[in-house]
Amino acid sequence: MPEKPYIIANWKMNLDGSAVERFMNMFPVADPLVAASHVLIAPSYVFIPAVRAAVPEKEIAVAGQDLYWEDRGAFTGAVSARQLADAGCSYVIIGHSERRAFFGETDEAVNRKVHAALSRRLRPIICFGESYAEKEAGETKRVIYERIVAALQDVRSADARRILLAYEPLWAISTSTELAQPVSDTPESAQVIHKLIRRTIADLYDAHVATEMRIIYGGSVDEKNVAGFAAMDDIDGVLVGGASVDPQSFFRVIQAYHSSPR
Ligand code: PEP
Repeated sequence: MPEKPYIIANWKMNLDGSAVERFMNMFPVADPLVAASHVLIAPSYVFIPAVRAAVPEKEIAVAGQDLYWEDRGAFTGAVSARQLADAGCSYVIIGHSERRAFFGETDEAVNRKVHAALSRRLRPIICFGESYAEKEAGETKRVIYERIVAALQDVRSADARRILLAYEPLWAISTSTELAQPVSDTPESAQVIHKLIRRTIADLYDAHVATEMRIIYGGSVDEKNVAGFAAMDDIDGVLVGGASVDPQSFFRVIQAYHSSPR
């Protein structure tokens, strides 16, 4: 039986307290399709306890949207892996394109954060993707390879199995930091890159790790296009931004994912 798909809501900095409460009241947590998926929500830090308190972890897991690699100390404004775990997170997004574009996050920082997350038993969701300019210059494969190698530097294979890789071409994200009008990716071309990512993992580790590592796709995924991505062999789930902030819209993404013939 194929593993349950990962369907992840990245709320970014979009919801306030009343919207979080409304979401948790309206989202159909007990629906069998939710149980048939790994559903994760990544709220802003301040709303992690509210989401955690509203649903048990076996129904919806909670992810941080970022972390800082130090465990504790004088780092005003930062949140550590230890604190995320303590607040009830079991996953953390690392290296999102908005962190890279607006907060100067480097590949080296991503790698330090991956190690910090793993040391606290948080599963990293490592985001990476090429820019439109890189795609047009035919540099996608090189960029993807370099991002993966840098993010996974010194990560042992026992830990690598616990990582999720999120391929998110920058030009396909609905709020692209680069393009005024994002360009839609097709499931078929996303599959080509996902296959390449899996092959890269097999080269860096081995075939077992490559099979076990979950590789998810993100970039303007919604209820209309998700079934196409879900049908692809090397796509193990989706990271959803804009279509995840409304409970009904996010649930329709989950329904549509499961309507895929795969
Ligand atoms: C994202 O930013 O990770 C993302 C996938 O956003 P959207 O679904 O809005 O393109």
